[in-house]
Amino acid sequence: MPPRIAQSSRQRGPALASSFAKLARSAEQSGRLQVSKDPVDTPPYDIHTLGDQALREPAKRIGKVDESVRALARDMLVSMYAARGIGLAAPQIGQALQLLVIDLEIEDPNSAPLVLINPEITSVGGSLCTYEEGCLSIPGVYLDVVRPSTVEVSYRDEMGRPKRMKADGLMARCIQHEMDHLNGVLFVDRVTDHDKLREGLDEKGFNPADVHTVA
Ligand code: ZN
Repeated sequence: MPPRIAQSSRQRGPALASSFAKLARSAEQSGRLQVSKDPVDTPPYDIHTLGDQALREPAKRIGKVDESVRALARDMLVSMYAARGIGLAAPQIGQALQLLVIDLEIEDPNSAPLVLINPEITSVGGSLCTYEEGCLSIPGVYLDVVRPSTVEVSYRDEMGRPKRMKADGLMARCIQHEMDHLNGVLFVDRVTDHDKLREGLDEKGFNPADVHTVA
């Protein structure tokens, strides 16, 4: 998912305290996944685009979280930073695995990215909200999608540790968008304004027939 989204729910505390907290959190969370956020010219993976069958394959659960999974997560982060994205799911690079990487702070070298393995949404918030979404697999197309505003998700991190998280704002939106990829669903499948959808896809040279509208 690219970063062009209307609002973020991030709360800003006093700058110094927040930067210490961030460093501590970053050291704790990043484990062995430290990669530079500087965009590279030749990323390890190309990102599949709308129309590619790889984006429609359901992703398999990951059994053991080992070094090969961490290596894949690292390569996904490098590929995501190269595309200046804030979220990437393994099916987008042709790996049908339940693995997501998210980083809402791609301009901040001190904040750690998030790796979600086998994520499951355990509950969603009552209210629905509209956000303009985009996708690294459908570059240049930005359209409104309605989704629940908050989610709770359980997952394993890059060290295989079980985690739970409550998310709102941009993080909730990003998690739901990326988790759709694990089921072969793309954000354009959820767009309800079909005129704008056709127009947006035409403009960027995508085929509206590649959209699989969900009810
Ligand atoms: Zn996407």
